[in-house]
Amino acid sequence: MINVNKNFSLLENNYIFTEVNQRRDKYQQENKDKKLLQLGVGDVSLPLPKKMVKIMQKELKKQCGKKHFRGYPPENGYDFLKNAIVDYYKRRNVILQKDEIFISNGAGCDVGNLLDLFGLNKVVIQNPTYPAYYDSSIIAGNEIILLSATKENNYILSPDELEFDSYLIYLCSPNNPTGATFDYASLKKWVDFANKTKSIIIFDCAYESFIEDNCPHFIYEIEGAKNCAIEIASFSKTAGFTGIRCSYSVFPKNLNIDGLNLNSMWNRRQCTKFNGVPYFIQKGACYALSSDGILECKKNIITYKENAFLIKQCLKEQKYDVLDTNNSPYVWFKCPNNMSSWEYFDYLLNEYQIVGIPGIGFGSGGENYFRFSGFAKREDIVEAIKRIKTKKIPPNYEVNPKS
Ligand code: PLP
Repeated sequence: MINVNKNFSLLENNYIFTEVNQRRDKYQQENKDKKLLQLGVGDVSLPLPKKMVKIMQKELKKQCGKKHFRGYPPENGYDFLKNAIVDYYKRRNVILQKDEIFISNGAGCDVGNLLDLFGLNKVVIQNPTYPAYYDSSIIAGNEIILLSATKENNYILSPDELEFDSYLIYLCSPNNPTGATFDYASLKKWVDFANKTKSIIIFDCAYESFIEDNCPHFIYEIEGAKNCAIEIASFSKTAGFTGIRCSYSVFPKNLNIDGLNLNSMWNRRQCTKFNGVPYFIQKGACYALSSDGILECKKNIITYKENAFLIKQCLKEQKYDVLDTNNSPYVWFKCPNNMSSWEYFDYLLNEYQIVGIPGIGFGSGGENYFRFSGFAKREDIVEAIKRIKTKKIPPNYEVNPKS
């Protein structure tokens, strides 16, 4: 008999967003006349900048001609995009070499795929967390050490809770789902810890372009990070590329473990298992990093952040316990009346026709919490605010047994 990877049986049956969509669709089927407001999924809702689409169209069209037809792209990306990324990092005084950058088709893919480079390890993951870190680590068979991000530690993890040992450490800043963001001192603690313990940090900065406080956008802004950290970045939320697919990872040249070089290993892995991102898409990504492109993309980011601000204000006025952050499209708050995350999900769906994400979907540390997303459409945000303001939860509300 063929051996299968039995670690899959350790995963939750359903991915959180699948479960949310199933409950939402069932409700909509049974209540066809009700308009549901989607404040849940972390997908972008605003269209791409026109100029960016024009550039991509033009590049694709050119391929009708013999002269400009292109086959497989270079596995790790075209130089024009890598050069644009080098310049983008320079703006924050981070100097990268072109061959430290690997263009890919999604941060979500790289987050899991890079476990190919490692044997079995202790993996440190925040609880609650973006589910891909946890699920990928489980699938690979790693031992997982969960660190709680709570109100008590301001939702910011510290290595102080860990024993002196070597770990793979997933960090995400600004954080999904909480929105909390490392400042320089708290991130430096992790870099110092990783260097001392010969650990590797996998730093996910998918939301760096949402930062407005004085916080590091890239881990390489911290001294010593090039000796211990891989960075994962994405055009998905920065440039609206969730459907277009383009991201990149940074593997510094001097990341060596046990005589092996992680940069060379990732290069080898990608050349074997990945055939690159289409030329015209990389051209679109390159525009997103140009000065015009940054300004265009910023307009959408500002709208998403305003959405998050509006919903946060409303929840604060209604005395919800909300995490206040300036750097994220997400709004993380405690469910009222001590409801569990799923109880509150069902309550919101049945009574307000609002769809959000139950915090428990991000791990046990998210129980009793909830996430709204500023990526929702503005009209849905405005309508949701109206509903939340006009229809308050009665203090004696009994949890809906329908779930
Ligand atoms: N990392 C984080 C923290 C995310 O929240 C997401 C998507 O929501 C991703 C990575 C996935 O990005 P991509 O669309 O590039 O796969």
